[in-house]
Amino acid sequence: MDVKQLTQAYIAPTYSRTPLELVRGKGSLVYDAQGNEYIDLGSGIAVNALGVADEAWQQAVIEQVLKLQHASNYYYTAPQAELAQLLCQKGGMQQVFFGNSGAEANECAIKCARKYSHDKYGEGRSTIVTLLNSFHGRTLTTLTATGQESLHAHFGPFTPGFVYVPADDLAAMEQVLKAGGVAAVMMEMIQGEGGVHVLDTAYVQAVYALCQKLDVLLIVDEVQAGNGRTGKYFSYMHFGIQPDIVSTAKAIAGGLPMGATLFGEKTKDVLTAGTHGSTYGGNPVCAAGGVSVVRRIDDALMESVAEKGAYIKQALMGSPGVQAVTGMGLMLGIKVDKDAKDVVAQCRDKGVLVLTAKDKIRLLPSLNIPMELLQKAVEVLKEVLAQ
Ligand SMILES: *Cc1c(COP(=O)(O)O)cnc(C)c1O
Repeated sequence: MDVKQLTQAYIAPTYSRTPLELVRGKGSLVYDAQGNEYIDLGSGIAVNALGVADEAWQQAVIEQVLKLQHASNYYYTAPQAELAQLLCQKGGMQQVFFGNSGAEANECAIKCARKYSHDKYGEGRSTIVTLLNSFHGRTLTTLTATGQESLHAHFGPFTPGFVYVPADDLAAMEQVLKAGGVAAVMMEMIQGEGGVHVLDTAYVQAVYALCQKLDVLLIVDEVQAGNGRTGKYFSYMHFGIQPDIVSTAKAIAGGLPMGATLFGEKTKDVLTAGTHGSTYGGNPVCAAGGVSVVRRIDDALMESVAEKGAYIKQALMGSPGVQAVTGMGLMLGIKVDKDAKDVVAQCRDKGVLVLTAKDKIRLLPSLNIPMELLQKAVEVLKEVLAQ
């Protein structure tokens, strides 16, 4: 059997896969088993922050593999400590808990919020408010947090204590918060899976102020939008707020599985010995990869991310077949005349890999994609959209 047949025979069919077997890559180029070349505008799903096979990242990972591939969290390891410090400095936060995925980072955020509230106010103040159209993960609790009815079919009963409100509707948020019993509000600043919707700045700032007034924690899910994706280290930095808890994952270790939950002034030291844990969390190989990537997400790179994002927006807006372009930096959604699935297939046939989000085309290229490759890919996309 070939790879496709083996996959179909032995792997649970939870993904609708593109008929493409990827075998290697370099930077923003990836190659299939037949040797065909593609310009990758997805970087996994916002994971390969500095592209494929980045040499400094490879070296950091290999060096750590040769020394110590794992130690339990009963011991100290240097890459973990170094990455935690870097993340706190980047985000204006104070402490980190490491897990292995975005869903786990959000689970930890929810646990921390509930414990903060329970420690301070006792029982009955445990509700987590999330937004409609949000995406927070696939575990039962983060699926509960995800405000999309379509994903909730089949899997009930769900974790109690979640309430949903429409994004950008301040009156609805006020009503829920003032009714009481709320431990935290959790939201993405830019709803990724929900269709690359950027929240309204005035709304975010008003929710932030309300949360502070009521001592309701604000959790920002930076799993997709974080780690330089939008042209600032974390997307909340565009909104002039400082969350109480930040969750992140996807790009954080340059392609290795890792998630992190960051705590601020109010939430540091809430999760104490024995209240939370993860066997693999903060794995030294992943953390070494993380240090290599996070360190290089600096002001110069952020500036180029903003410039490339502006270039894509300008190139596509008003182009035939394009209705609108949303998003920030290199996290963009394109509302198109055509069926998004057809666009993905036609771009692939022309050597460009793009993603979808709801009915939009979604672009999440590596942060360091060379401008000439980006231009070439955008030309292909324009051509496909205009047909
Ligand atoms: C991808 C994603 C998640 C889930 O991350 P996993 O690593 O797949 O568990 C959570 N929140 C947001 C905003 C995401 O984009």
